[in-house]
Amino acid sequence: MEGRIFGKPMITQEEMRKRIQELGLRIAQDYQEKELLMVGVLKGAFVFFADLARAIPLPLHVDFLVVSSYGEKKKSSGAVKVISDISHSIKGKDVLIVEDIIDSGLTLTFLKKKFMARKPKSLRFCTLLDKPQRRKTDVVIDYVGFTIPNKYVVGYGLDYENKYRNLPYIAVLDNVREDA
Ligand code: 5GP
Repeated sequence: MEGRIFGKPMITQEEMRKRIQELGLRIAQDYQEKELLMVGVLKGAFVFFADLARAIPLPLHVDFLVVSSYGEKKKSSGAVKVISDISHSIKGKDVLIVEDIIDSGLTLTFLKKKFMARKPKSLRFCTLLDKPQRRKTDVVIDYVGFTIPNKYVVGYGLDYENKYRNLPYIAVLDNVREDA
């Protein structure tokens, strides 16, 4: 990865490391007496999920679901499709859904409805990034890494046309690829 292609970080690796440690400890305190099941929303959350899970000093369970949202290249239409579901029942479990970014809030709303119907003991949401300026629905996010302005970002799991997920920090797409 040359610097010329990947531009300047919006959030650096060091900032991310510190914040994820803080989030991990907070989550560990909140779930001390519970049996935490962390559900990662793929593909975008895969890097954040791995770091967050390792920052939570609890014997937690993990599961994943793969979703894709229909829409334009840089916009979620809110029509979410589950490509692959989690593999365990969540009935009676304390579930924490881990997302990469909340933008319109439509994906979160979709997942909340879907998961609540399965009767978990509790359901909370954690996201690395929150972009509240484009919100279309009222959502409650229990744990937020960073609140960011209305820019399309890539890296740390987030893509543009399935690229840049491996960038080790968050960068604004325009700073990464001039013709995007
Ligand atoms: P929402 O349903 O909240 O509008 O959108 C959530 C999904 O849209 C995210 O999981 C992500 O896939 C995509 N998304 C929204 N904003 C961005 C962004 O700035 N960068 C990237 N790479 N994806 C985004």
